[in-house]
Amino acid sequence: MRCGIIGAGLAALTCAGELKAAGCEVRLFDKGRGPGGRMSTRRLTTPFGATELDHGAPYFEVSDPGFRRIVEEWRREGLVVPWREAGSRAWIGFPRMSSLISGLAARHDVSWQTFVGGLIRNDGAWQISTDQGLQGPFDVVVTAVPPEQAIPFLALHDLDMARTASQAKSRACWTAMFVFGEKLATSPYPRRGNASLAMALCNRAKPGRTGPESWVVHATPEWSTAHIERDPAEVAPLLLAAFQDLLDLPALPPVEAIAHRWRYAMSDGIGRSVLWNRGLKLGACGDWLPGIGVEGAWLSGHNLAHLVMGSEREISAGLTAALRASM
Ligand SMILES: Cc1cc2nc3c(=O)[nH]c(=O)nc-3n(C[C@H](O)[C@H](O)[C@H](O)COP(=O)(O)OP(=O)(O)OC[C@H]3O[C@@H](n4cnc5c(N)ncnc54)[C@H](O)[C@@H]3O)c2cc1C
Repeated sequence: MRCGIIGAGLAALTCAGELKAAGCEVRLFDKGRGPGGRMSTRRLTTPFGATELDHGAPYFEVSDPGFRRIVEEWRREGLVVPWREAGSRAWIGFPRMSSLISGLAARHDVSWQTFVGGLIRNDGAWQISTDQGLQGPFDVVVTAVPPEQAIPFLALHDLDMARTASQAKSRACWTAMFVFGEKLATSPYPRRGNASLAMALCNRAKPGRTGPESWVVHATPEWSTAHIERDPAEVAPLLLAAFQDLLDLPALPPVEAIAHRWRYAMSDGIGRSVLWNRGLKLGACGDWLPGIGVEGAWLSGHNLAHLVMGSEREISAGLTAALRASM
């Protein structure tokens, strides 16, 4: 079975891994310059040396026993480590957040910098239209992108799936990265913020991180939405002021202050783990279905792979029975 997957974040790679293990031929297409998705890491060169900042998910929590087993496997492979200072269930990619995604992506045929613009169905097979040309044919197609980006793909082929996806609303998040020439005189571990900031943490305090003193702050969804169309160059000083206010520190000037806009950062979910049209062999997975961040992305990709394989097995069992009956 040939499977094409739009996106190569954690949900996509989880689904891809299980489909490949079951014998499918899997290809993934991602518009990103490299691995990460919303678990990305930004590399910066500063007067105090190079550093890498996790500017998407700062860490993730593990509750589900199935996810815990997989996370322990990733730990043995050196892709993740626990970060106890952020909580007893907190984990991070090692030595950077994106290491988990690059480690998993290395096992697959992923085309990076490939923007998917549409899905075409011809004679019972799928083709994926990208800015690098038409890809396929595929027997199964999976979207593993945020709901707002999945809806245009789904709407042309299954309006019910698109309608369901439109119930999930992503929250925006402005993130800022600050690099300082000296250590800040405060606890480096994650702390809840103020009216503008949801969280602030010292990236340098995570296991495996090197380089100068570096902090990442995430604005609240309300603040982010109110400022969503502003220029990153305007947003960075606003978040710096909020950060200095939160820490109650003298106004130490950073050597780098960069803001990043996440239009679709997180979703509360819609109480499902996947969308699957068995007749068309069109599926959707991602954190926005169960709505629990990184763990939700894994759960969704995992469940969709099982559904795809389950229905394939049912179909081939059905075909075998029909063939036997006709003999
Ligand atoms: C600022 C921030 C803070 C967060 N904090 C936490 C946290 O504390 N804990 C937690 O558990 N989670 C957190 N999250 C959420 C977590 O990062 C996500 O739940 C998880 O990474 C989602 O994985 P995914 O595979 O569903 O989607 P993504 O990682 O978004 O992957 C989707 C991929 O699809 C690609 N794509 C999109 N459209 C197209 C297209 N048209 N063509 C080709 N490719 C496309 C993108 O490039 C991307 O790589 C945070 C996220 C952000 C942004």
